[in-house]
Amino acid sequence: MSAALECRDLRAGFGEHTVLRGVTLSVPSGGVTAVMGPSGCGKSTLLRCFNRMNDHLPGFFHQGEVRALGRDVYDPSWPVDSLRFAVGMVFQKPNPFPMSIADNVLFGPRLLGIRQRQELSEILESSLRAAHLWDEVKDALHASALKLSGGQQQRLCIARALACKPQVLLLDEPSSALDPIATARLEETVLDLASRITVLWVTHDLQQAARVSQHVAFLYMGELVEEGPTAEVFANPRNELTERYLTGRF
Ligand code: ADP
Ligand code: MG
Repeated sequence: MSAALECRDLRAGFGEHTVLRGVTLSVPSGGVTAVMGPSGCGKSTLLRCFNRMNDHLPGFFHQGEVRALGRDVYDPSWPVDSLRFAVGMVFQKPNPFPMSIADNVLFGPRLLGIRQRQELSEILESSLRAAHLWDEVKDALHASALKLSGGQQQRLCIARALACKPQVLLLDEPSSALDPIATARLEETVLDLASRITVLWVTHDLQQAARVSQHVAFLYMGELVEEGPTAEVFANPRNELTERYLTGRF
């Protein structure tokens, strides 16, 4: 099985503050890999390294290798926009653009230079279907995205990422602002997608990690303490910190 995402000896941080202290991680192609760990341990920073979303943050530095889809993310022949189309991202708080549902989904394809109406309408429908949102919005494609519920907005953000045909989706605690029903719908949507693309899902919710992932990594204070098949790590954690985290004795 080849790796969709990899980092080796990754040290990263902001100014004087080192956040990641030499992380080596390999995310297998296909399926869902979960990254768990207590608040502040560096999960978001790690996730954002894979599509260079930290680069514009004040004081950000990094050392070590970061690869996505077999390529160095800093390869000068790989424009950062193309990297971000291939490695899409959905954030903790739903963040649709203040425009219509259709314009949100077609934002990326239009940036990619797609102008043909027929092609755009196919991308719109297939992305919304894949995000399990089509039936709910097909009669309101030109309504403001901001009128949707939180759960629908988050699935719209998934559709917006899918419209650029990513091979990897990075999810940064995408359900933490959602109620349990909206969370269940989001999980179901992502699990469907994960048969076709690779998902790296940051969550502090252990039950969620157990439900959605096949592979799991546990990050603690900027170090990768343990990783492996989810069922094995949950049943038989090898590291004492993982064991304490899983049993709530932290
Ligand atoms: P997690 O997602 O696990 O909660 P983060 O990656 O968001 O952790 O943060 C890890 C550490 O990095 C925290 O101490 C946080 O304060 C710091 N940090 C995160 N983003 C920035 C930033 N833009 N500038 C400075 N420090 C940051
Ligand atoms: Mg975070």
